[in-house]
Amino acid sequence: MPLVVQKFGGTSLGDAERVRAVADHVARTRRQGNDVVVVVSAMGRTTDDLIRLAGDVSVVQPPRELDMLLTSGERVSMAVLCMALAELGVDAVSFTGSQAGIITDTTHTRAKILEVRGDRLREALGARRVPVVAGFQGVSTDHDVTTLGRGGSDTTAVALAAALGADLCEIYTDVTGVFSADPRIVPTARRLGRVSFEEMLDIAASGGRVLALRSVEFARNHHVPLHVRSSFTWEPGTWVVEEEPSMEQAVVTAVTHDTSEAKVTVVRVPDTPGLAARLFRALADANANVDMIVQNISVHGTTDISFTVPRVDLPASLQVCEDLAQEIGAGEVLADDAIAKVSLVGAGMRSHPGISATMFETLATHGINIEMISTSTIRITCVVRAERVEDAVQALHRAFELDV
Ligand code: ADP
Ligand code: ASP
Ligand code: MG
Repeated sequence: MPLVVQKFGGTSLGDAERVRAVADHVARTRRQGNDVVVVVSAMGRTTDDLIRLAGDVSVVQPPRELDMLLTSGERVSMAVLCMALAELGVDAVSFTGSQAGIITDTTHTRAKILEVRGDRLREALGARRVPVVAGFQGVSTDHDVTTLGRGGSDTTAVALAAALGADLCEIYTDVTGVFSADPRIVPTARRLGRVSFEEMLDIAASGGRVLALRSVEFARNHHVPLHVRSSFTWEPGTWVVEEEPSMEQAVVTAVTHDTSEAKVTVVRVPDTPGLAARLFRALADANANVDMIVQNISVHGTTDISFTVPRVDLPASLQVCEDLAQEIGAGEVLADDAIAKVSLVGAGMRSHPGISATMFETLATHGINIEMISTSTIRITCVVRAERVEDAVQALHRAFELDV
């Protein structure tokens, strides 16, 4: 019997009626002759609410306790979904990440999955029951509850699909698939029928949060076919697939944006070998997830180094930079949390010169200043002021004729 992993995001489980609609769909998938494993996120904005609660209670939030708090959201979802399934006569059984055998490293709030044991899920399937697994969580090699980072339920779903040898992993969300830009910002964005893992990786990495980056990495490495679709309309959505020779390679496939990072600049770093290495080693040791890096040419024997990090890593990064700046005799350390990234992604960019020029011209025409630039073979990213990022996305979407 084919095995399908179905993951339902927060809005898909926003209230009791939505939970019942999801149960209905799971029951129907079973009746159609599939085995189903369900992965759930926390209902609605529960995770945001819990983060806010933690902030209201204390400025000191030990990561272990934060994980204990946040994993409670997914527990609620799995229990109520099993109840809704029971009412439909479907024998369902809930599992926390730990019970499902998702073993992670010990990095609280952004743990990596090391192993999926999955024996209890296989047993449940063998007994014709539907396992409903709490997404976004696991248990560490130290036996503590961990979370996988925001959006981590996608990763749970793909990891389970890989471990159980599922035929398909369906990601149900509140849009009808992966679009050429966030449809909330560009209402005329186009739904992509198929997108390659390669492009989807860059879309996810540059802010297209419809799929968590790790879930795409996992799916590509383990050859798990992914189908991103709507739990509101249930219509076919976007297939994320291995690249096929016949696949049309659009020059630009999507315009993405990301408002979750901040910029740090260390001024007047002495221009001697080894200092950049020391800085970025210290940042890595502090678990700061450095993204873009720019070093300017040196004037009078010193150079400015700027980089971006997730905003949550800003305090730790500043501490590291200030300590090192003192030690090596660099100048001040500047923080800027009003930046955003806008990116173009497209496999066809490889063989088309002039895309960056058009991107920069478009931003210039709209009076949007570029503060940092980085490129890969299939992506160009610019850092701009956060307040202008939506204008930038809309202008680029138009300039590259991506509208429907
Ligand atoms: P879920 O709770 O189902 O995991 P998310 O909020 O994590 O949902 O992801 C879905 C959201 O991703 C959409 O509502 C949409 O606003 C946003 N999004 C950003 N970029 C894209 C894109 N390129 N295509 C589709 N959705 C996108
Ligand atoms: N509930 C978690 C979050 O909001 C995980 C997820 O939705 O995938 O990030
Ligand atoms: Mg999500």
